[in-house]
Amino acid sequence: MFIKICGLTDPAVARLAAEEGAQFIGILFSPLSVRKVSMKLAHEIVSSTRAGGGEAVGVFVDEDLEKMMRIIHELDLRVVQLHGEAARRACHALPHELTIIYVVDDDPLPDRLDPRKDFLLFERRDPEPRGFRFFIAGGLNAKNVEKEILLHRPHGVDLSSGVEVSLAKKEPSLIREFIQKVTAKGRFGDFGGMYVPELLVQPLKELEHALETIGLSDGFQEELAAILRTYAGRPTALTEVKRFASVIGKARIFLKREDLLHTGAHKINNAIGQCLLAKKMGKTRIIAETGAGQHGVATATACALMGLQCTVFMGAVDMERQAPNVAKMRLLGAEVRSVANGAATLKEAINEALRDWAHSYETTHYCIGSALGPHPFPKMVARFQQVIGQEAKQQIFDCLGRHPDLAIACVGGGSNAIGLFSAYLDELSVALIGVEAGGIGSKLGHHAARFQGGSPGVLHGSFTYLLQTAERQIASTYSISAGLDYPAVGPQHAALFHSGRARYEAASDSEALAAFQLLAQTEGIIPALESSHALGYVMRIAKDLGPEIVILVNLSGRGDKDLPRLFEKELKHVANR
Ligand SMILES: *Cc1c(COP(=O)(O)O)cnc(C)c1O
Repeated sequence: MFIKICGLTDPAVARLAAEEGAQFIGILFSPLSVRKVSMKLAHEIVSSTRAGGGEAVGVFVDEDLEKMMRIIHELDLRVVQLHGEAARRACHALPHELTIIYVVDDDPLPDRLDPRKDFLLFERRDPEPRGFRFFIAGGLNAKNVEKEILLHRPHGVDLSSGVEVSLAKKEPSLIREFIQKVTAKGRFGDFGGMYVPELLVQPLKELEHALETIGLSDGFQEELAAILRTYAGRPTALTEVKRFASVIGKARIFLKREDLLHTGAHKINNAIGQCLLAKKMGKTRIIAETGAGQHGVATATACALMGLQCTVFMGAVDMERQAPNVAKMRLLGAEVRSVANGAATLKEAINEALRDWAHSYETTHYCIGSALGPHPFPKMVARFQQVIGQEAKQQIFDCLGRHPDLAIACVGGGSNAIGLFSAYLDELSVALIGVEAGGIGSKLGHHAARFQGGSPGVLHGSFTYLLQTAERQIASTYSISAGLDYPAVGPQHAALFHSGRARYEAASDSEALAAFQLLAQTEGIIPALESSHALGYVMRIAKDLGPEIVILVNLSGRGDKDLPRLFEKELKHVANR
């Protein structure tokens, strides 16, 4: 996101704004402006802006060509902003290497503008970008800028009076606050952020601080690693599945065995990490949401281990469907609280947990179950799951002396996938593929594939891809695997999808079931239905891959939890096909 602050009259403030992260500092020359500067002052602002790492912009309002050329030349300007008729008409005659920020009005755009380097600027009007990068401007300040960014999705924001305390007097603390809002940590490209009620800002900031101090300390890292090793069962094995691979094609397939962890899935990595951090923060109580109960069980387990009080919010419908997990959580000492409103499933359970946290955060940590929600949750959960990718990368390298060609994981909220992908983000030879739940068809309501039928929007405090109706209501979702059945996805995946660094595919219920059976019968490993989606996708593509191809799949969990329901109906259905 580009930030341009316009109408600077003080070289020291210009330097500070540039140092804080404003790429562009606008200098006004119009004799009519209260923010106009003399050539001498302009020289000083240009040098201090450049010293701070920014670029000065000559802002011209209805200026004639000759005067513009003289100023551009004298100040060695590389960027100009053009307002009003005369300046626009002069556009054609300006040197070609100049970058132009063109303030759009009702006239057609000059042909001279080049979308590869020039920008449009829309002041108090709805942007029509026409292939150009664009700024929005007009009345922006630290309070409204996030909303405006969300509404218009610009490439840059431009402001002037929004950081002034009195006419033409810019206030450094307002500049800093504005820039921090725009460059908010916790964004992944356009996605992520912290879209929460005021009450939650304090606990989220406190958590972010703890994550960056306690969480990064050697003491914490060592203690966490020790618990993962002596209690959870890390490192997990890497298994080559030759019989499975030979049935479906020629490529070599390796599984990262998160199914072998205590409680049966990768979720324990995150639960132990967050509970340990919360304990170091002085919290005595943990709350969590759960859908199918897996994250609830993992959190209740970590709380029992560390002597923390535990409350798990669960939709009333889910409680009925997942009675054994409810019993397990209660056995582990947790209180399971039924959430009866709305559809009474995961989405409502998360709302209820956030509501509790807004009033209880002095004693309580909210342990979220996947790499989603407001900042810093996506970042924190990804950090606690990175161990998956770190281990797998080393293990496969030790085995083959190279990286895999494909790294594949199922994507619910996205925590096991980001845990695997994070090790390979900079290894561009490794294709990253996330597999979502394709359910029983591509109609809205029949699947949970956010990157197939979804669009950007905000849910649970984060700007990301969502399944929503034409009226922007959150759509209902369906998948045979409860862990993938969620209408939003972690914001880092939205950014990886947008940038193209990762690809997202959907595997259907029946593809997942076929993989579930095949892995059990050829390898003696019963995968979780979630993980079976990743395997189902591999089965689809394997026939086109040669023997030189190496595929790494994250086996996020074991399938024991799925057996009772499968034995009831789905397995029969597959067996009879
Ligand atoms: C919960 C769960 C998932 C989905 O969650 P992510 O955050 O996307 O990893 C996948 N596999 C298993 C076994 C799960 O329990």
